[in-house]
Amino acid sequence: MQNYVTREDIIKAFENNEFKVYIQPRYNIYTKEVIGGEALVRWFHRKKGMLSSGLCIQVLEKLGLIEKLDLFIFEEVCKSLTSWEKQGLKRIPISVNLSQMTLKDIKNTMHLKDLLHRHEVPIELIELELTETFMCMNTEAINKLREEGFKILMDDFGKGYSSLVSLKELPIDVIKIDRDFLIDIEKSEKAQAILKTIIDLVEIIKKEVVIEGIETKQQLEFIKSTKCKFAQGFLFNEAMSLEDFKQLIS
Ligand code: C2E
Ligand code: MG
Ligand code: MG
Ligand code: MG
Repeated sequence: MQNYVTREDIIKAFENNEFKVYIQPRYNIYTKEVIGGEALVRWFHRKKGMLSSGLCIQVLEKLGLIEKLDLFIFEEVCKSLTSWEKQGLKRIPISVNLSQMTLKDIKNTMHLKDLLHRHEVPIELIELELTETFMCMNTEAINKLREEGFKILMDDFGKGYSSLVSLKELPIDVIKIDRDFLIDIEKSEKAQAILKTIIDLVEIIKKEVVIEGIETKQQLEFIKSTKCKFAQGFLFNEAMSLEDFKQLIS
């Protein structure tokens, strides 16, 4: 992918509106209610069909175009939230992933705020997902976002290099535990003990906890034996189009 996607390809993709927002629902595993959704970009390439974000994010970062994409996705989510609000649908907050490159530029914080105002989106309906490594290096940027009223989710927790000590100091509201912690959870007591301990730890520092990437019933059963109440994963749904998500919450 990296080798044959050019800057022109991506510019064209923006022009032709090839990037679409998909949403993966987040559930309360006990009530089975949708409690949120995560916006994930999908690239509908005119020749290659639908490409998942994992493939194109790196390329966009390399080409210095990730900022453009993040702001585009953020605005698309704003538009949908306003439209659902006007249609009287249930209010479900949506989280948007932001690359560290996007937030390194402090003026983007104001840009996000402007987009909210322009589309008249209540700030509690939009959440920001940032990765652990970035957070540890940029507490100032995150503090600013939080002061502005954004709810902050730490994404992929456990994959990066944050020290457990810094966890209690970081300006975050929710910790999303990376799905790597679910590997072998059905059969390994060690894996179970580690995941349970992390969930307990998040509980102790009084943050909300979400587990990502539940694929099997056994994994869900295990999560139910912990204090974690919220989850997303293929067992429930993969990311879906805005239209399908709207149906889901209607
Ligand atoms: P992420 O934010 O950790 O998103 C979760 C990824 O895990 C998504 O992959 C999702 O489709 C996948 N996933 C969810 N449930 C399961 C499951 O049960 N099993 C498995 N195997 N996978 C599951 P996706 O959409 O390919 O996104 C990959 C990464 O790309 C995201 O990881 C996020 O870091 C990044 N990304 C996606 N959209 C955007 C965006 O608009 N802006 C930025 N900056 N990054 C984005
Ligand atoms: Mg995410
Ligand atoms: Mg994640
Ligand atoms: Mg991930």
